[in-house]
Amino acid sequence: MTAAALDHLLADAAELDSASSLAHVRERFRLPEGVIYLDGNSLGALPKAVPAAVADVVTRQWGEQLIRSWNDEDWWGAQTRVGDQVGRLVGAAPGQVVVTDSTSINLFKAIVGATRLRPGRRIVLTDPDSFPTDLYITDAAARLAGVEVRRVHPDEALAAIAEAGDELAVASYSQIDYRTGEKWDLVALTEAVHAVGGLICWDLCHSAGAMEVDLDAGQADLAVGCGYKYLNGGPGAPAFLYVAERHLADFDQPLTGWHGHARPFEMGPSYDPAPGITRGRVGTPPLISLLALEAALTAFEGLSPADVRAQSLSVTGTFIAALDTLGVDLPLATPREDDRRGSQVSLRHPEAFAVVSALIARGVIGDFREPDIIRLGFGPLYVTHADAVNAAEHVRAVLDSREFERPEFAERGAVT
Ligand SMILES: *Cc1c(COP(=O)(O)O)cnc(C)c1O
Repeated sequence: MTAAALDHLLADAAELDSASSLAHVRERFRLPEGVIYLDGNSLGALPKAVPAAVADVVTRQWGEQLIRSWNDEDWWGAQTRVGDQVGRLVGAAPGQVVVTDSTSINLFKAIVGATRLRPGRRIVLTDPDSFPTDLYITDAAARLAGVEVRRVHPDEALAAIAEAGDELAVASYSQIDYRTGEKWDLVALTEAVHAVGGLICWDLCHSAGAMEVDLDAGQADLAVGCGYKYLNGGPGAPAFLYVAERHLADFDQPLTGWHGHARPFEMGPSYDPAPGITRGRVGTPPLISLLALEAALTAFEGLSPADVRAQSLSVTGTFIAALDTLGVDLPLATPREDDRRGSQVSLRHPEAFAVVSALIARGVIGDFREPDIIRLGFGPLYVTHADAVNAAEHVRAVLDSREFERPEFAERGAVT
């Protein structure tokens, strides 16, 4: 019964893979043999364009050209040049995105900057289920700005926004919940915040590179996101900051480093912010990582965010359907409806950590999130429908055989 069902699922998956408009894109990635990689929402896979680009940055641009590369290779302009490339993937017209720092740091700049755009308003709203750094940083930004944080789940945010009214300075929400993969309505929340005269900051860590975001069309004010997840920029890749054009002239961010200065090489004694999104910069960027991200983004060439989203939904939908067909009856933490989920599928299990470890031992790499989440992320550019079905079969086998109870799967490393 199961064997026949699996054959059928695999045959359907093969058909979907050969018909996919992204079929040729997996070839742009280097993936190890025998691995089904479902952790692209934590560290994206390696695009084949990256090693040669990094070798060039190191051996030629740095090794031979030395300091001249700041001008000759336009290292100076790389943060906004790569920012515009990221902007294309998140619906931002050029000149509004800078690649810089980490998501944590950009969120700090964005929230403090937002409170300064709305002086006199004393409330910041955020999601209690946010990624922890977002909570910690929001608290720290609010402390500096002298405003109060209210933690309200996105389900109840509309009421909280109305209640805060003209006291709302900024609402700071993730478009996708990092744990459950639930997708929140960017347009509806943004409109509600604007109706009371506040600003919204979106965290796009789990949406940039996986789906359409439409920052400009959705009238978002600020946004931040990660370079190393679905953008595949590599470990520790710099993050990005978006500030809508209409706010740029007044955007007053708190980390006034010299790379955000209007005339940094005058080496003057006081700060004068650069025009445009350049003022989002702080200090000297990690150029090897930044230029690795630039090379990584070539994996998106010829693809629209809508194509990427269609593939993501198709592959995650295939995985959910395969779990059903194979009789895996774990509760889904992720909504089944297409328009309510991002590019991951999360399952709940009391021994989630051990289940994830057992899957990794089988070559199915996902991750565990507290308290009971098996989190499987589907990088739409390189995870196939066949991978989705095979992964579902591994989940079934690990559960049915109770393989996860083996003692070696209980041991935790420093990073889960
Ligand atoms: C991954 C992630 C981060 C990571 O922040 P860093 O500063 O890069 O460590 C922040 N927020 C969310 C929602 C994330 O998913």
